[in-house]
Amino acid sequence: MKLLEGKVAIVTGASRGIGTGIAKVFAEQGANVAFTYSSSEAPALALEKELNALGVKAKAYKSNAASFEEAEKLVTDVLQDFGGIDILVNNAGITKDNLLMRMSENDFDSVIEINLKSVFNMTKAVQRTMLKQRKGSIINMSSVVGVKGNAGQTNYAASKAGMIGFTKSVALELGSRNIRCNAIAPGFIETEMTEKLDEKTVQGWRDGIPLKRGGSPEDIANACLFFASDMSDYVTGQVLNVDGGMLT
Ligand code: NAP
Repeated sequence: MKLLEGKVAIVTGASRGIGTGIAKVFAEQGANVAFTYSSSEAPALALEKELNALGVKAKAYKSNAASFEEAEKLVTDVLQDFGGIDILVNNAGITKDNLLMRMSENDFDSVIEINLKSVFNMTKAVQRTMLKQRKGSIINMSSVVGVKGNAGQTNYAASKAGMIGFTKSVALELGSRNIRCNAIAPGFIETEMTEKLDEKTVQGWRDGIPLKRGGSPEDIANACLFFASDMSDYVTGQVLNVDGGMLT
């Protein structure tokens, strides 16, 4: 029996990296997957094809998670196309790193809007459906940086820490309706983004991790699978560090 058989999941920002990993693992476990992208249309359509070939229904939507109206429209479209929503993964995110002294107002605002306001937009948009169903699982992709802070990432750390406060509050507010909300705090995950970094620097990071390697999108996807499935039916309001022991 597959863990997500027949469930409908929305995954934001699945055209690359961790989001792609989540969409694949969910589809392999029998979920029908609606996923979004911002501009990477070709990879999004390729993923849509790949997931459909697994025998589930999958569809890519171009939707800016930072826009309240676009999030509302996305959920209306997904309900029309899929007939329900059981799981929401708020994964879309960006970085615009700089020392505070050099950080522009625009770089602060855009990171907060895309990483944090998006979570408000999407959670509000799916809330009514999940309330009616009296069931739902919401998973927010935070970061070890949101738990611990990081020099040069004040905007990103604030957005990721904000997601944790939001997660715990939603868990308290909607728990009585059987809607669960948890966060994942990935450590150093090797995606296309990190391939551009200098190999010596990356090796230094790997050496500093107790499990001696960077994480993969699948490592994060498997943690999402736990929170999405009925295996975590009695777990809400939690932050799970998936970081090879980095914060230990
Ligand atoms: P990534 O490779 O840069 O992918 C980001 C995804 O988000 C892409 O699919 C992108 O779409 C989408 N996106 C960006 N802005 C969007 C918007 N306004 N609306 C909708 N979608 C948007 O990032 P990643 O490394 O997979 O990270 C995924 C999540 O994990 C992020 O929230 C990130 O903060 C978090 N995280 C990552 C790491 C890590 O080490 N990689 C560690 C901790 C936490 P397009 O392709 O169309 O631009």
